[in-house]
Amino acid sequence: MIRVRFAPSPTGMFHVGGARSALYNWALAEQSGGRFVLRIEDTDAARNRPEWTEGIISALAWIGIHGQNPVFEGPYFQSAYEPQHRAAAQKLAAEGRAYFCDCTREQLAARTGSEQRGYDGFCRDRGLTEGPGRALRFRTPDEGVTVVEDVIRGRVEFPNEAMEDFVIARADGSPLYVLANAVDDIEQRITHVIRGEEHLSNAGRQQLLWPALGATPPVWAHLPVIVNEQRKKLSKRRDKVALESYRDEGYLPEAMVNYLMLLGWGPGDDREIMPWSEMMPLFRLEDVNPSSAFFDEKKLRAFNGEYIRALPLEEFIARSRPFLDPSWDVETYAKVAELVQTRVAVLSEIAANVDFLFLPEPVFDQASWDKGMKHDASAEILAGYLARLEAVSFDPESLKTALEEVGLAHGLKLGKAQAPVRVAITGRTVGLPLFESIEVLGRERAMDRLRAALR
Ligand code: GLU
Repeated sequence: MIRVRFAPSPTGMFHVGGARSALYNWALAEQSGGRFVLRIEDTDAARNRPEWTEGIISALAWIGIHGQNPVFEGPYFQSAYEPQHRAAAQKLAAEGRAYFCDCTREQLAARTGSEQRGYDGFCRDRGLTEGPGRALRFRTPDEGVTVVEDVIRGRVEFPNEAMEDFVIARADGSPLYVLANAVDDIEQRITHVIRGEEHLSNAGRQQLLWPALGATPPVWAHLPVIVNEQRKKLSKRRDKVALESYRDEGYLPEAMVNYLMLLGWGPGDDREIMPWSEMMPLFRLEDVNPSSAFFDEKKLRAFNGEYIRALPLEEFIARSRPFLDPSWDVETYAKVAELVQTRVAVLSEIAANVDFLFLPEPVFDQASWDKGMKHDASAEILAGYLARLEAVSFDPESLKTALEEVGLAHGLKLGKAQAPVRVAITGRTVGLPLFESIEVLGRERAMDRLRAALR
């Protein structure tokens, strides 16, 4: 059975790159009837926070990865397995696969003449026993190459002479990440390690650790980095990387999942918009592209717009609700929802399109006001239309004809005549179709707004 894992460290917001790794793991597990293990790598007590763990779990659930699905196993917490990590270190020491070392950085630099050089093996044969100030180093082979067969990158070679005897437990006895991670993967019977490219050098070390711990190394797959428009690696400081911020802005999880799956993989034809149920069975690790993947926020937006427009209206209304002010009447919103649905790319854009229906008066900003009222005849248009609204039949067609006629009287086409009316009614120069908006707003309120604009 295929057993994969996603092993985030809870040290910050949940990164879109992490979400992509999780989805690739999830796809492989789900399509093969395997298991997806969630392991929270929480051993860095200084940088971990419980809220980051909760954030990861809820963000994963948002993209469909959660315990209600039998594919899911966990979460396990790495910190709970420290005794196993320590035992593994002890075993490697007892078998002579690892040795204790008391060299300081300064001593090493003095011997090798450089701060940068790897460890020179000074303590290899000194036979030091465990003791304070002594780290434990793994004995790497001196000759030959260590080979990581990576499904995505092919054969990756690490010349052994360049691989230093790396530390697996610190001088205080605490195990290092490279060891803990391998021990957990072995205990959790992981068959495929699918993770970010930044862990490729760890794979070289772990390719040695697994057999030393009595296990056959897993299938390795290191995913390409995700870059921004400047082809720089996505970073927390520069880019919007948190999955949570996309959720809060009103991206639909199904659009996000679709887009993330395509960051480095494709179904092999031109299709792009594809639901998870169609993509999941087609996913193949072998088809992941090793070159970096561009996170194109514009394209994601476009995907999201398509997914929004594909929702049944009732569903769109339901999904809109968290993005509407709770005091706004949903029935009124439902009357314009169809018009809104064709116009927004993310759900957080809804409010600005419909707030004029709910607020006592529209939100005016000076720039929109100036733009809407820039024509000399603006006041006449407003006054003329106000007079017509009193008696006109209150449907979009009649409302339009009435304004056309008022415009004509001042030599203005409908487009020009609409501008002051739109600003008076909605506060903005662009938005939902005007005459439908006026209809929903109602005669009294529409007239009040025109009067207010004339003052
Ligand atoms: N905890 C590691 C990280 O968040 C992942 C390690 C792994 O996937 O092997 O980068």
